[in-house]
Amino acid sequence: MIYLDNAATTKPNKESLEIFNKINAERYFNPSASYSVALSLSNEINQIRQQFINLLGGEATDKIIFTSGATESNNLAIFGSAVNKQKRYIFSMGEHPSVYNCACELKNRGYDVQFIGLSKNGQINYEELEFLCTPDTCFVSAMLVSNETGAINDITKIRKILDKKSPNCVLHIDAVQGFGKIKFSVLTSKVDLCSISAHKIGGIKGIGALYVSSRTKIKNINYGGNQEFTIRSGTVNPAGILSFSKAAQIVFDNLEQNYENVKELNNYLTLKLIELNNELFKIKNINNKIIIVSNNYCSPYINSIIFNGNRGETIMNYLDSKNIYIGTGSACSSNKVGNRILESIGFNKNEIMGSVRISFNPKNTKQEIDTLILELKNYLLNINT
Ligand code: PMP
Repeated sequence: MIYLDNAATTKPNKESLEIFNKINAERYFNPSASYSVALSLSNEINQIRQQFINLLGGEATDKIIFTSGATESNNLAIFGSAVNKQKRYIFSMGEHPSVYNCACELKNRGYDVQFIGLSKNGQINYEELEFLCTPDTCFVSAMLVSNETGAINDITKIRKILDKKSPNCVLHIDAVQGFGKIKFSVLTSKVDLCSISAHKIGGIKGIGALYVSSRTKIKNINYGGNQEFTIRSGTVNPAGILSFSKAAQIVFDNLEQNYENVKELNNYLTLKLIELNNELFKIKNINNKIIIVSNNYCSPYINSIIFNGNRGETIMNYLDSKNIYIGTGSACSSNKVGNRILESIGFNKNEIMGSVRISFNPKNTKQEIDTLILELKNYLLNINT
């Protein structure tokens, strides 16, 4: 099996799985209880909050709220901050559905919600952001790394625009595809809220977190036992949290080496795709069949590619039959028609139809890419004639 859909989810590492099973089997206590074994679990969880604050570059007085994943973190960040209909809330068109659909819901509820488009390189359009920001803008949400194209937004630049136009604005970052993969600090760009998820970094599904800076107030969006600083009710998930902690430690210990490995794999894939494109021209006189969407502004973990005149889904299905797994855009939204992100960058409907996403794990190999290219070539030259 060749797995190249690591932006959808990653294979959990052995250590994180072991911790998850061990805690569930042996230390299954409710950390809100007052007896010693529960208290010790609760203390450990509090230390892990500090671990995550440190990894994000925050300060000791900031908070980490554990959630069921980044979808919940994003919902909590957005609806927990939406308290005033007179104020403006700004989102980018490039956001993951777990942010974008919250924004649409806020709009439905009568809030002043504005969307900023994307530039050709996939980053948010900074001029548009500056234009839309007013002194009444109270919330801006932008992702660190696009799950579709890998485009990295310049968060420091966004904060500078906010300082100039909307000084009291809360800045929320969906850092799911960047956390543990590219260098990033909440401190340098004065990020107020930041969403992360375990299953994108070798952890298990169903656990995530929302970082909340000490200067930021958010309200609870669910009701119950007032766990997690009264912001997120529900029995705390110790096995998930301890296993997430391990996954984070492993990726951060290896961040630079992983980055170099993935960059080399991505450069190799890009080179092979250019060669394949030239070959298609020579053999079949087809020009510009393969368009590489990802560029220098992108994280090497994600490569978005358009096979012009083909259906991305058909290519994915063909590769599936060869035990090669790639993505067609975001897995959470792959059944929808069209692609809001590629559309916002400026690709037409036909091009969008031919889009696929290849996303790496540092353990992928060049041999796997060779096999992928071989199958793509076979498909484009022999099968799809
Ligand atoms: N944001 C981004 C950028 C993502 O890629 C994803 C996962 N596809 C999410 C949010 C949702 O994360 P989770 O699966 O933890 O709910």
